[in-house]
Amino acid sequence: MANADDFRREVRDWLATAPRPSGLHDYGPTPTPADITAGRAWQALLAEARYACLHWPRERGGREASVAEQAAFAEECALADVPRQFHLVGPDLAGPVLMAYGSDEQCDTLLEPIRTGEHLWCQLFSEPGAGSDLASVRTRAVATDDGWVIDGQKVWTSGAADAQYGLLLARTGGPGHAGLSAFVVPMGTAGITVRPLQQMNGESKFNEVFLDGVRLAPDALIGAEGEGWAVATATLGRERLSLGSNAVGMLKALDEIVTAARAHGRLDDHLRGEVVDAWLGVWLLRSTWERAVAEGTPPGGPAFSVLKMISTSTYQAIGDLGMEALGLDALASEHDEPLVDRMLVAHAQTILGGTTEIQRNILGERILGLPREPKP
Ligand SMILES: Cc1cc2nc3c(=O)[nH]c(=O)nc-3n(C[C@H](O)[C@H](O)[C@H](O)COP(=O)(O)OP(=O)(O)OC[C@H]3O[C@@H](n4cnc5c(N)ncnc54)[C@H](O)[C@@H]3O)c2cc1C
Repeated sequence: MANADDFRREVRDWLATAPRPSGLHDYGPTPTPADITAGRAWQALLAEARYACLHWPRERGGREASVAEQAAFAEECALADVPRQFHLVGPDLAGPVLMAYGSDEQCDTLLEPIRTGEHLWCQLFSEPGAGSDLASVRTRAVATDDGWVIDGQKVWTSGAADAQYGLLLARTGGPGHAGLSAFVVPMGTAGITVRPLQQMNGESKFNEVFLDGVRLAPDALIGAEGEGWAVATATLGRERLSLGSNAVGMLKALDEIVTAARAHGRLDDHLRGEVVDAWLGVWLLRSTWERAVAEGTPPGGPAFSVLKMISTSTYQAIGDLGMEALGLDALASEHDEPLVDRMLVAHAQTILGGTTEIQRNILGERILGLPREPKP
């Protein structure tokens, strides 16, 4: 593929003239139920123009794009206020996992509908007792004469209410990593109940998922029995590709904050200073990210963990600044006020994709070489 700058120009030209499905906006990694139709139509357009699943191999419809090219694409999409893809889980997690561990038949039937947007996937990993410590997953998969029976509960499952497939982590053996296996779950299977959870900004992007005696075919297993931990860790980190493009939204938010502060008569020297500090923070983040991408740092690596930590704290600081700009009026505003919505959404950033405390552990152990945390 051409170098990242040439590719960026090509993408920018395409985005300037590409048709926009009605109601499409940059909704982030997961569509709300209201975004599904526009997001799916957008993915079909991306697939047609070969901008879907850029990192996939050519024979599966991708472009084998470098991290720098994927990052440039994400940033151009953010500038154009469109999502870089329909949703995160299918293209970035399930697809690569199927190609690395799945059978030819799984790849032949499941990959193309992800690329074209026909299928939405969800990630069935976290449970009420297993989040940061994912190895303590308790949902059980028992082998039977004609496949598997699954029992358990998942939580915080983004997109589950609209998904056609789930990537499931379940226990097929004893405790610990070695007892875990990964499965493809058609979400319409009998025994699956999805209950949306309402977030504090009023949206319901994630869900509780109950699995009661769910029967899966033998070929639902991905890779070998006991290979679930390798599958789970292979999927971590790709959402960090958007860390740099998040700067686009943060800079837009700072503009909105200045406009709101002016309108509310609150743009004093103190707030001006804070806006400048936040602006510098965003550019520091953007430059550090650019360097990591140029050096070819893998998104799952420890350097991206540190970037994730800086990005989320900057995001939250900007959320709080929005409240300073609105003053007491923020208390009377609902989530239809963009600055209030941004502040509420910012809180999830230090939890999703690995919490800040876990990133600090990674920073301490893998970058600073500090002793490992004692195991309880
Ligand atoms: C917006 C959003 C979307 C999500 N989407 C999905 C999804 O689609 N699929 C899915 O499977 N999951 C999803 N998650 C869940 C997410 O992966 C978990 O919330 C995350 O891994 C943390 O797990 P937990 O919530 O169980 O918290 P816990 O792991 O119980 O952590 C609680 C607190 O303890 C701290 N802590 C835990 N262990 C340590 C340690 N060793 N050292 C120091 N501090 C520690 C944590 O930092 C945290 O502050 C989503 C979460 C959010 C917020």
